[in-house]
Amino acid sequence: MCKLNFEVMTLFPEMFDGFKSESIIKRAIENQIININLHNIRDYSKKKSKSVDDYIFGGSQGMLLDCESVVGCYRDIINNTKSKHRVIYLSPKGKQFTSDLSSELSKEESIILLCGHYEGIDERALNIMNVEEISIGDYILTGGEVPAMVLIDSISRFVRGVLHNDNSPIDDSFTNNLLEEEQYTRPREFEGLRVPEILLSGDHKKIKDYKNKRKIEITKTKRPDLYQKYLKEINTGGKDEYKNTRD
Ligand code: SAM
Repeated sequence: MCKLNFEVMTLFPEMFDGFKSESIIKRAIENQIININLHNIRDYSKKKSKSVDDYIFGGSQGMLLDCESVVGCYRDIINNTKSKHRVIYLSPKGKQFTSDLSSELSKEESIILLCGHYEGIDERALNIMNVEEISIGDYILTGGEVPAMVLIDSISRFVRGVLHNDNSPIDDSFTNNLLEEEQYTRPREFEGLRVPEILLSGDHKKIKDYKNKRKIEITKTKRPDLYQKYLKEINTGGKDEYKNTRD
């Protein structure tokens, strides 16, 4: 049995073809660490035309995904799966998706991701499904498919076995509210630019201290808001992996 299951409700399942068949996500599916099931909301339209959208009451512009198709699709998933699902609607009105939320979601057994389209979804369907709304940023996209892929990709990275090196997510940016330090590969010198000498020294303690110092400096410069969060955590005795190297 896979560790984390995704049930995606969408009007455009083909959009996920490339996503599922390349690189790390492809391998995670093949190794049965994650599973991605796609459900076409259109299959649940009761209309002869198979349309799933309708005009918005009250004179607003555009169309809405109707209750019947969305709820029909949702109930089919619930009735045909044994798992306990966390139900998420990708929505610009939702709470912001962050690394902490991604890590939290990776502990779930199964996640239903509802992708909206047009002007969104009839509110009653969202109420019936008791959705949790999550946004990937303060801008509007044409549909919830790209946000759903963003969530699946990010959440999967926290599932043991998905990345080659299980420590990788811990070293990445946003762990402990810090950005990752600069990194280099061969050659040691390129067009007169040398890799910092300390990284070539072989002194593990010095290298660790240097990297932690750079994480803090880079965060302070590039993301002062994140740096303030980092300081707050340190001062309240929270996450303190980098306490020793605080400047
Ligand atoms: N009328 C909506 C509003 O103003 O809030 C926007 C609807 S948008 C054109 C269509 C769908 O794209 C939404 O239902 C949602 O599923 C998805 N979407 C758009 N922007 C998003 C974002 N920033 N985060 C997550 N989902 C988003």
